[in-house]
Amino acid sequence: MPEDIIKKYTNGEVTIVWKPNVCIHSKICWSKSTGLPEVFNPMERPWIKMDSAGSEQIVEQVKKCPSGALSFYYNNEV
Ligand code: SF4
Repeated sequence: MPEDIIKKYTNGEVTIVWKPNVCIHSKICWSKSTGLPEVFNPMERPWIKMDSAGSEQIVEQVKKCPSGALSFYYNNEV
């Protein structure tokens, strides 16, 4: 699989970028103790639900991704 697959999820204010081939499946983003399971749920589609938490909360979670698979930008900065 090519490494440059990019998926984007947005709530209009912030966009989360996910690179599936960079993800090491650490579970940090979706486990109950370390993550935000109401937003990140790999069992569902879309697996990132941008409406389930505020932008800041989602961004804070994205920053904890150990592999760099998750990143973000604010739409008004583009
Ligand atoms: S925290 Fe990052 S590396 Fe871990 S499962 Fe989520 S996206 Fe993948």
